[in-house]
Amino acid sequence: MRLEKLKTFRRELHQHPELSGKEEETAKRIRDFIGEDPNTTIISGLGSHGLALVYEFSPGPVVMLRCELDALPIEEVNTFEHRSNRPGISHKCGHDGHMAIMAGMIFWLQEQTFKKGKVILLFQPAEETGKGAAAVIKDPRFKSFRPDFIFAFHNIPGEPLHRILVAETNFSTTVQSVAIKLTGSKSHASEPEKGNNPAVAMAEIVLAFEALNQHLLSALNFAVITPVYSTMGSKDYGISAGSGELHYTVRTGSDENVDRLKAKLHTILQQITKKYALQCDSRWFDYFPATFNNKNCNTIIQRAAELNDLPLRIQPHAFRFGEDFGWFSRKYRAAMFGIGAGENCPALHKEDYDFPDELIPTGIKIFGGIISQILKETPEN
Ligand SMILES: [Zn+2]
Ligand SMILES: [Zn+2]
Repeated sequence: MRLEKLKTFRRELHQHPELSGKEEETAKRIRDFIGEDPNTTIISGLGSHGLALVYEFSPGPVVMLRCELDALPIEEVNTFEHRSNRPGISHKCGHDGHMAIMAGMIFWLQEQTFKKGKVILLFQPAEETGKGAAAVIKDPRFKSFRPDFIFAFHNIPGEPLHRILVAETNFSTTVQSVAIKLTGSKSHASEPEKGNNPAVAMAEIVLAFEALNQHLLSALNFAVITPVYSTMGSKDYGISAGSGELHYTVRTGSDENVDRLKAKLHTILQQITKKYALQCDSRWFDYFPATFNNKNCNTIIQRAAELNDLPLRIQPHAFRFGEDFGWFSRKYRAAMFGIGAGENCPALHKEDYDFPDELIPTGIKIFGGIISQILKETPEN
């Protein structure tokens, strides 16, 4: 039975997770699972370990579906049989499930009789670090695909199982990380006044950044500023600390807002470090641009949900997580949607999360509905 095969494959992927940029074995498992299909061309090594399965009926519209290959540096606490067998690494974002659905699309495509068109199933590496999509797009072989449409989905815990979630404009927020290094000078711990200890400045920065949080998604100044790491001095009890670091992730609803917020954060840093005569170096990295949904693509997703009698919810705001699918949506006609993973499903990136296998047929149905509309109707735009 096809679904049983896909479920077993999903569990095999779950057992053998690999971190971002190191998904070589995962890519091989997909190639082996797909096997030899006369209508499928496999292109490997896209932007490191990416894989594209190209299924052509005959020249016509090109639909690309994208999923992710990578797992996370999180220790799995689940004890079920298919638990991760790699210490400290596990599939806690459900990318194993996204891949199983994508692999299932090959079986679905084999049963179709479209007169024209091409479907490309893209297994993208390194989504969690925000590097994979940009690397894949840069690969010269990707340009030759010339996709007319690109679609992807993410499973969404906390939402009813099978519910299709369409975001009106942005699907995901803009996310960027920052590392702030403050340098003063060390001194004997008995004479801190002879050095320049950054502790109080760091405390002021933490409080000032905290005050800029606005977690209401509908607010114009929506911002989530999360401290993720900090360090100061060393465990040498005779020395007053001379330097420290603060690391944050910053989320906003759009690229313009992130620029505005960055400027505000820099002003705060300048004011506080000037007051305490500290040297300040900040470095921004891991940029995930907001995913902008094309209107036409959203309509296609909605219709696919309706055709398959799947519950649908249109939501006016973006999800708070980052998604490097944003890079595709900047260059191509694209949209990303959510599929509810169940109200009681543990949240993404939690140690006890596991992709619900019940979503495998749902994913195939909705992707099938999307492809059918485009290859049958060949819309103008
Ligand atoms: Zn994730
Ligand atoms: Zn994910």
